Amino acid sequence: MTEANQMIIAGIHAVATAAQITRTVQANLEAVITLTKDDRSPVTVADLAAQAVVALLLEEHLPDPADRLVVGEEDSGALQDESMKTVRDAVVSTVQQWRPSASEQDVLDAIDHCDHDGSAGGYWTLDPIDGTKGFLRNQQYAIALGRIEDGVVVHGVMGCPALPVSQDAPLDIPDPQGVLYAASRGEGAWEFAGCDPEADRLGIRARSLQEERPLQFCGSVEKAHSSRSDADRIAEHLGNVGEPVRIDSQCKYALVSRGQADAYLRLPTRKGYVEKIWDHAAGSIIAEEAGVTVTDIQGNPLDFSHGAGLHANRGVIAAVPALHGRLIESIKELGIGMEEEA
Ligand code: AMP
Ligand code: MG
Repeated sequence: MTEANQMIIAGIHAVATAAQITRTVQANLEAVITLTKDDRSPVTVADLAAQAVVALLLEEHLPDPADRLVVGEEDSGALQDESMKTVRDAVVSTVQQWRPSASEQDVLDAIDHCDHDGSAGGYWTLDPIDGTKGFLRNQQYAIALGRIEDGVVVHGVMGCPALPVSQDAPLDIPDPQGVLYAASRGEGAWEFAGCDPEADRLGIRARSLQEERPLQFCGSVEKAHSSRSDADRIAEHLGNVGEPVRIDSQCKYALVSRGQADAYLRLPTRKGYVEKIWDHAAGSIIAEEAGVTVTDIQGNPLDFSHGAGLHANRGVIAAVPALHGRLIESIKELGIGMEEEA
């Protein structure tokens, strides 16, 4: 198997390159919508082009085919139909802006390469555009790539192409530079300003609690993805909690990891929803390596040994260690996660 540092380097390069591609599509949302006459097509184009680029670069960097299995969110099935020709052409030409020699077939094959089912001992999991709603609102999204070995996340790379590196900048305006985060198990978590793999990497660390400062939570923009009423109940139960930051995608993990927020709460909204590994693999290892405690709402570690779903877990709580136990206690006392609507 390829050396660990070769793995993380391959992942960083793949995500950084994909970030350049998705940024171009986000900057041209209206043009893509006009071309394809479909409001959601920019997501399809950016998703599939980013997935192709990541698959092509992993293939180029990692000589052993067993090291480049990918459990991805997307396949090219929807592009095969003749009615999708405009979108397919847009995906292919987006990839060709970066790699002119890639043929249509190369691009479709690369997309379909990410169809592994998670049964191998080691594989990557990719969400090429996490936070699709944020991407379409011209706000935050992430390109999330995690490496899972024997059920444990060992590397994570998260491109946040629209996230300002400055913690003082507004989060709802896309930043033209963005920032990339990466972590390897036991090695730490790093920030690369400008999504530039050649930039000086900066170690990141969660902050410590200060009694006088109100607690800062972050959560989804989309109401369906995390219960706001339960987050409010927890805030009331704990006391001294400020207005939550609402932001799409795994950028929430980044905010806690870089010391900008105290906790990321993902509280189940409906019975039976199983969190997907690609929504948490990269973010959770970056957070853990930055000193954040990451569990489900009952305080159990996230269990990545069940294929594409976190079947043994419900919801996610990522918090600075001094707060994490109090959050799990509140959730228990308030009976959260026990009485969801069917
Ligand atoms: P976020 O941007 O944090 O709101 O999360 C986006 C992710 O939420 C998507 O990648 C989906 O996989 C996931 N998702 C979709 N439906 C739900 C749901 N009912 N509960 C939690 N997450 C969901
Ligand atoms: Mg996602």
